[in-house]
Amino acid sequence: MPAIPASARIVLDQDIPSRAPWSAIVKKGQTLRIIDSHGQQAVDTLFYNASDLQERYSSQDTLRAQGAAYVSTGTAIVSNEGRTMLRMTADSCGLHDTSAGACSCESNTVRFGHHTRYQHACRENFVIEAMKHGLTKRDIVPNLNFFMNVPIDPSGNFTVVDGVSKPGDYVEMVAEMDVLCLISNCPQINNPCNGFFPTPIRVVIYDAQEG
Ligand SMILES: [Zn+2]
Repeated sequence: MPAIPASARIVLDQDIPSRAPWSAIVKKGQTLRIIDSHGQQAVDTLFYNASDLQERYSSQDTLRAQGAAYVSTGTAIVSNEGRTMLRMTADSCGLHDTSAGACSCESNTVRFGHHTRYQHACRENFVIEAMKHGLTKRDIVPNLNFFMNVPIDPSGNFTVVDGVSKPGDYVEMVAEMDVLCLISNCPQINNPCNGFFPTPIRVVIYDAQEG
């Protein structure tokens, strides 16, 4: 994993435990690095304009802007108002989904059986974390799934298959506005998105402008 430039000012460097929610503000010009510390871990992520939380990540507009079904280096992460929120500047993995959404207790019962109803899910994580910022479950929109491997076939059907990310794989994004980043370190254990074993991840926010 390439080192963060020595001249950078580290704003935050934090491990996110397995299954846990997390949030932080990434200011305009700062870089957000998300590291899949142990590999094969899905990182469900949402972005909101920090000064207007009604402006938020739009998977539809992001994919339309790229003309592609996935996000990677060069992708503009676009809001529901058509503005670029962040731009992906590095990607050591190459497979990230923004079509399959976040797991929920309800969808788990449909997909895996009613006996999974009690299990923790990303939607609960997002709601818990969103509430800290005055948001409710109505504000949870379709999200990015970094490191989640979701092949889409020519007819548009998709499946979640084994993740390919290795320990230390990472993505980087430079914020083009002040953004609130919400992460659910996905607790899913019923499909292979986490290798059936959720693990901690790490996030670093740094400012490359200051020495
Ligand atoms: Zn999940």
